[in-house]
Amino acid sequence: MKHETPIQRLSIQVNSNTLYMKRDDLGLFSFGGNKLRKALPFFEDMKQAAATTVVTYGSSSSNHCRVVAHEAKSHGLRCVVIAPEEDLKVTFNRQMVLESGAGIVTCPVDAVSTTIAKTLSELKQAGERPYFIPGGGHGLLGTQAYVEAFEEILAFEDRTGVVFDAVYLASGTGATQAGLVAGSVLHETRHAIHGISIARRKAQGAPIVLESVNELLAARGVPALKADALSFLDDYILGGYGDANAAIHGWIRRMLHEEGIPMDSTYTGKAFWGMVEHLEECGISGRNILFLHTGGTPLFFDDLLRRKEEIR
Ligand SMILES: *Cc1c(COP(=O)(O)O)cnc(C)c1O
Repeated sequence: MKHETPIQRLSIQVNSNTLYMKRDDLGLFSFGGNKLRKALPFFEDMKQAAATTVVTYGSSSSNHCRVVAHEAKSHGLRCVVIAPEEDLKVTFNRQMVLESGAGIVTCPVDAVSTTIAKTLSELKQAGERPYFIPGGGHGLLGTQAYVEAFEEILAFEDRTGVVFDAVYLASGTGATQAGLVAGSVLHETRHAIHGISIARRKAQGAPIVLESVNELLAARGVPALKADALSFLDDYILGGYGDANAAIHGWIRRMLHEEGIPMDSTYTGKAFWGMVEHLEECGISGRNILFLHTGGTPLFFDDLLRRKEEIR
């Protein structure tokens, strides 16, 4: 199943730029999002491998684990999620994983890789054919999925005559940004693609994005991209993963009220705020700017519930 998503023009303007949004949150299964787009090719690959059980990794807030648990169910596969035991948050994503019937194996965060290996070997001994999807759908297949998303953006430009000067998105483990960047290299376009880091410092995060870009380019026989050609912005991470300020919450409310679009405070709301700051700081105006909405709608509801509790 192909999940092409729409691009819409927003009525909100920032610094006299015209904003557009690619709605990857509107994918056609399990609340969409970049984790859906990245998971789909893994499930295709699983068919070839005739797998019986899917194993993956993620925290309680993981959009990836929710999508994988739902996909597994819809393909009639068993699903096991390895999760760090330190993380006890109650979230809609975790609730949906549990209700899908997936097994959750918790372990200390420093024992994740040994627990994955142990789980895979136990499943094999029990006669299953397990298939492992890296956390977040990281890997060549996930990167490839975002080359295709970039090609949807190019098709939109061709169709409408609107040309984007820059694309902004939330960057975490980086495969989403890597796919867009690789797409722009493969198609020799001039788009500036800015990953707003949601947690990692540049020294740690940028090399991982670059590695994913170059893994894909190498697979296509294209020369590697240099580190300085990558824009991985770590000026907006605040206190790290999940930390948000009043400005982020302000943009989330405004986007919901004026555009009817949900954003969460960990990924999309934070990245949207980072984009606004970056456009203003760099004096960018009069351009067409595309924001990639990477999904995470269940996290939006977690935020909404928390707000409701604060009001009470
Ligand atoms: C995981 C996630 C991201 C980050 O994607 P990466 O490919 O890991 O960089 C961004 N937005 C949302 C909503 C996510 O769930």
